Amino acid sequence: MKRTHHCGELRAAQIGQKVTLTGWVHARRDLGGIVFIELRDRGGNTQIVFDPQHNKPSWELAQSLRSEFVIAVEGAVRKRPAGTENTRLPTGEVEVLAHQLEILNPSDTPPFQIDESSGTQAGEDLRLQYRYLDLRRPAMARNLALRHRIAKATRDYFDANGFLEVETPILFKSTPEGAREYLVPSRVNPGKFYALPQSPQQFKQMLMVAGVDRYFQIAKCFRDEDLRADRQPEFTQIDLEMSFITREDMYAMIEGLLATVWMAARGEKIPTPFPRMQFIEAMERFGSDKPDTRFGLELVDLTKDFAQSQFKVFRSAVDSGGVVKAINAKGLAGATQGQIETLTETAKSFGAKGLAYIKVEGGEWKSPIVKFFSDAEKKALIEKLKIEEGDLILFGADKREAVWEVLGRLRLVVADILKKTGKLTVPEDQWNFLWVVDFPLITYNPEAKRHVATHHPFTSPVAEDIPLLDSQPTKVRGQHYDIVLNGVELGGGSIRIHQPELQKKIFEQVLEIPPDMAQSRFGYMLQAFRYGAPPHGGIALGFDRLCAILCGSSNIRDVIAFPKTAKAVDLMTNSPSEVEPKQLRDLHIKLDTEDAG
Ligand code: ASP
Repeated sequence: MKRTHHCGELRAAQIGQKVTLTGWVHARRDLGGIVFIELRDRGGNTQIVFDPQHNKPSWELAQSLRSEFVIAVEGAVRKRPAGTENTRLPTGEVEVLAHQLEILNPSDTPPFQIDESSGTQAGEDLRLQYRYLDLRRPAMARNLALRHRIAKATRDYFDANGFLEVETPILFKSTPEGAREYLVPSRVNPGKFYALPQSPQQFKQMLMVAGVDRYFQIAKCFRDEDLRADRQPEFTQIDLEMSFITREDMYAMIEGLLATVWMAARGEKIPTPFPRMQFIEAMERFGSDKPDTRFGLELVDLTKDFAQSQFKVFRSAVDSGGVVKAINAKGLAGATQGQIETLTETAKSFGAKGLAYIKVEGGEWKSPIVKFFSDAEKKALIEKLKIEEGDLILFGADKREAVWEVLGRLRLVVADILKKTGKLTVPEDQWNFLWVVDFPLITYNPEAKRHVATHHPFTSPVAEDIPLLDSQPTKVRGQHYDIVLNGVELGGGSIRIHQPELQKKIFEQVLEIPPDMAQSRFGYMLQAFRYGAPPHGGIALGFDRLCAILCGSSNIRDVIAFPKTAKAVDLMTNSPSEVEPKQLRDLHIKLDTEDAG
C-alpha cells in the first residue's frame, strides 16, 4: 500500500476519494462497536474509522492496534457526521472509512504519551533518552520544521547577497585564549592534539585574505564550558565575514537578515534600522551589555548626592572612586522576607557584600539605613527615583563595574517578581532589537592580573583611539558590535585588524602574550596579513537561540534534534562513554582517573 496523502492533508475537497495513509497510531477509541484511530505523521492527524458493517477483517485487525503502532490504511474520505467535526484538527471536517489495514510494525508501550502535554509532564531526561519518540510530538516536529525554514531563509538571503557558503575544518588547532576547548588526540602524530573550533573565526579571516570577499556558514562550534540553561557544548552559529566594509554595512546586512528570517518564520515585518546604544550607556542605565529595553526599572546614579554622606558604606564607595546607584522596584514594598532574601542572595552571588534597601510603606521609609541620610539626600532620592508609596528601593555602592553587575542582575530578578504578581507586563511578542556598540577593546582582568580582549584579539580598535593603546589601553574603543533582542545577545562581531604590525602589537604588548606563544598560535595569521589582507569584518549569530526565540521556546534544547543535558551527556546514545584500552594505547593516552584499568 503506497501512501497517497500525508495525515494533515485531507479536507472536504477530497470527500469521496479513495486514499491511502501511513503513520503512527496516536489514539484509539472503541465506540459502539466501531474503532476510531487518530493516525499521525509529521504533517498532522486524521481520524480513521473501522466499521465491522463496512469491512470486517480490517475492523478485526484494528482491535489489536495500540499506541505508536505503524500502519497503512486504505479507505474512502467522507464527511464526518454532523456534530462530530473536530475544529481542533485542520482535517477535522473529514474522516477516512477504512477498507484495508496493514500493520507495518507494532510498538512497545511508549514510556510517555506522545502528545503536547507530555512535553511538560514527562521529565526532560526521559524525553531526551527517548528523543526519537519526543520528536514525534507535534510541538517538536513543528520546531524542527521551523528551524529548517529559518536555515533555508538564511541561506537564500546570503546567496542573494553574493555570499559563498564555505565549510571550515572541525579538526582545528588549540588556541586557548577563549573558552575551554575540546581536544582531539592525533593518533598519527603522537602527543599532539587538534582542538574542535570554538568558532570558525580564524578560517573566515583567512578566507577574506583568500579573496572570497563574502563568506557565510551555518557552522557547528564547540565549547567545553560549564553549561548554563541556554548553553550546549556543541551549538550552531550563523557565521559570516565580509571584505571592504565598515560597521554600517554590517548593521544593514544583519538587519536585512533578521527581517527576512522574521518574515519567513513568523510572517512578521520587523522595523529596520535597529536602534543603537553605546556600551557605556547600556551599562549605566541597565547594568547590562544586553539590556532588555521592553521595560524601565533603570539604574539611577546617586554618586554625587552621597559624596558627603554620613552613611559609611556609601561614603567609602564614593571616596574610593566607586559609585552609588539604585533602582526603584515600583510596587514591591510588600516584598516578602523570602523575596528580600532572594534579592540579597542574588546581590551577593554577583559580588555585593549585602543589599541596602528601603521599603516605602504606610507613608514611612522602612530601612535600617535611612537614619543616616540627610534631608538633602532623601530629597535627591525622592526626585531621582520618583519614590512613591509602595516602592522598594535597592542600592548598589561599590566599584562602577561591580554596581553595574549587581543592579543589572537585580533589575531582572525584580522584573520577574513584578511580572509574576501582574505589576509589570512585558509583551512576549514585542521585538526590541538593539545594536550595542563602542565596547572597550580591552578589559582588565583582576584575576589574571592582565588585560584581556573584551571580544577577541582580532577586533580592530576605533581608528582615532589607536594612540591610546600604549598609555590607556582600557580607554580604547573596539569596532565591536553586539546584536541584542529583548535582553538576549543574539550575536556579536567586529571589524578586524588587518595590519600585521597592529595585530602583533595587540598580541604581544597589549594582551601580553609571550612572543614565542603568539608566534606558535597565530604566526600563520601574522604572515597571511603580510600578503595583502583586505580590510574585513564579520559577525556570528547564535542559531539555536535564534530558533528558540522564533519558536517561542525558552529552552534551546527544544530546537536541537539531539541536544545534551546540563552535564554534557547525550542520554539517548549514552555518550560520553568509556573506550577500549586498545583505543587509548593507539592514541598514546594513559588515564589517571581512579577507576582506570
Ligand atoms: N567568532 C566570534 C564569536 O564566535 C564572532 C565574530 O567575531 O564573528 O563570537
